[in-house]
Amino acid sequence: MKVKTVFLDRDGVINVKAPEGDYIKSLKEFRFLPGAVDAIHLLNINNWRVIIITNQRGIARQLMTMHDLQTIHSFMEEELHKHNAHVDDIFICPHEKGTCHCRKPDIGLFLQAEKKIPVDKSKSWMIGDSKSDIEAGRNFGIYTIAVANPIAMADKRFPDLLSAVNFLINC
Ligand SMILES: [Mg+2]
Ligand SMILES: [Zn+2]
Repeated sequence: MKVKTVFLDRDGVINVKAPEGDYIKSLKEFRFLPGAVDAIHLLNINNWRVIIITNQRGIARQLMTMHDLQTIHSFMEEELHKHNAHVDDIFICPHEKGTCHCRKPDIGLFLQAEKKIPVDKSKSWMIGDSKSDIEAGRNFGIYTIAVANPIAMADKRFPDLLSAVNFLINC
C-alpha cells in the first residue's frame, strides 16, 4: 500500500538554522523552532508518515562527523517523544555538492524512503525553506510547501511549519 507522506527539511523548518555557510554541528547549536514539535505531533495523529530529508554537507567538509549528527538526531527524537511526537525516518546526504545523487535538489533521499515504504505521490508533500527543497519535491513529483521564505515555485507558502501543517490537516 502506498502511504501519504510529509517530507520535512530539517534546518530552518524544524530547528533554527545555522548562519549561512555554517552547520548545526553539536547539540548546543540545536534549537527547535516555535511550533515545530506540535506540528509533527499533529501530522502523527492525522496519520501522515513523517520523514526528514536533510543535506548535511558539514560532514563532507569534516566540520562534523556522522556521530555528531546522530547525537543531535537522538536528542531531537527524544524531545519529540516527550511530546508524543515522532518522525518515522531520517535520511541524510552527507556529501559534497556534485558528488552524489542524494543531495537535494536531487531525489536520492526520497528514493531511499520510497524503497522502504512506497509513497502515495498524489497525496504527499515536501516542506522546506530552500529553493533546493522545493525543486527536489517537484523533481520527485509531489506537492511542495515553502516555509519561512516565500519561494515562488512552491505550490503553497506559509510562515512556519505549524501553519503549513494546519493547512495540510484541513485540506
Ligand atoms: Mg533548510
Ligand atoms: Zn549525497
